[in-house]
Amino acid sequence: MFTLTRLKSTNNILKTLPKLISGSQIHSIKKNKPQDHLKVKIQGEELQFPYVWLRDNCQCEQCFHYSARSRILDWSYFDPDVKPENVIKKDEHLHVTWPDGHASSYKYDWLKFRSFTTKSQANYNQTIYRPKKETWQGNDFEKICSKHDYNEILQSDEALYNWLYKLSIYGVALLENTPGVETALDPLVAKIGFTKRTHYGVKFVVENVPNTSNVAYLSSNLQMHTDLPYYEYCPGVNLLHCLVQTASQGGENLLSDCHYVANYMKVNHPEEFKLLTDVEVEWSDVGTQDGLEFFKLYRSPVIVLDKHGEITRISFSIPQRGSHFPGSIEDVIPWYKAHSLFYELGHKFAAKFKNKAGNVLVFDNIRLLHGRAGYQDSGNNVRKLIGGYVDWDEIYSRLRCLKVKLNKNGGVL
Ligand SMILES: [Zn+2]
Repeated sequence: MFTLTRLKSTNNILKTLPKLISGSQIHSIKKNKPQDHLKVKIQGEELQFPYVWLRDNCQCEQCFHYSARSRILDWSYFDPDVKPENVIKKDEHLHVTWPDGHASSYKYDWLKFRSFTTKSQANYNQTIYRPKKETWQGNDFEKICSKHDYNEILQSDEALYNWLYKLSIYGVALLENTPGVETALDPLVAKIGFTKRTHYGVKFVVENVPNTSNVAYLSSNLQMHTDLPYYEYCPGVNLLHCLVQTASQGGENLLSDCHYVANYMKVNHPEEFKLLTDVEVEWSDVGTQDGLEFFKLYRSPVIVLDKHGEITRISFSIPQRGSHFPGSIEDVIPWYKAHSLFYELGHKFAAKFKNKAGNVLVFDNIRLLHGRAGYQDSGNNVRKLIGGYVDWDEIYSRLRCLKVKLNKNGGVL
């Protein structure tokens, strides 16, 4: 039965093929015209759906594989100029018949969730794509840095969801009551997915190491920075488990929300902002770790924007910026001035706090700058942290799964 239907539909579509591949109009890109859209009133709202989008998103089993949740229609038979033969509204569904006899039906809720209005697009982003970030400065830190219980996160999806949700909005969260063992991050990361391995290992130990391969492994002042800016696929989130905190003065963390800093610069210092978004610099890390030689280089501006002007990534590290300047010589002096301003504002708007043993500080590595005040180990008090990275891809993925599982998406998908 399936084969028959398939053959019939293929034969019908074949008739449309010569039209598709003959003539030169196929390469001329036309703008959407209202007559290429289906207008439909759903739950009192006038919505529009381009015909081509409806045909492309037919949910029948010939076009869409349910268990793979993937489109399986054969693109070699697809006509981008397709128009429906017939449209019927019935039983909360839109039923469309196409010229080749193929029939599609779409649930109203399903269509509405995907409609093209600005309001609907914003709702989709918030409901399923990514929660909207909220920026903050040092004075807001107490208020925005949510605290979560390590064991609750391991036992409850609700607690796991809350943690990741807050982390995605503010870029920082603190876990308390973490067992004082070096493996404590493992089950936590497993709740999300897996770690991002780098040349510093699956996890890394932060303690004072003379003749180190990385300045983070010294006890002196660690200037504010993002980790691993020399990675094209830069780890998204940093988890720092404090096993032993220094009893001496110092060792405090500094954290600064660069989305706040960048927005401040955009308004108050637009030229410097533009330089930091335009001029690429070269981030670098060269050395040997655990017998593995590495030579990492990556070029990007300090502030990376997407086509909507939203910040997608911050790269900033005094030690891990190379001496090769890939831009033009005219950019050098203005860029250094802009860079200095960014550094200054990063400090001005930073939060300062001293983490405690048993806490895991979790923060967005491509959004926040982090640093540490110098400290002095003494006797049997040796400051020790275990760190690991997880990518935002894994965190957003877990968040969406939990949203659906916990029914926080309003039941639509
Ligand atoms: Zn179909």
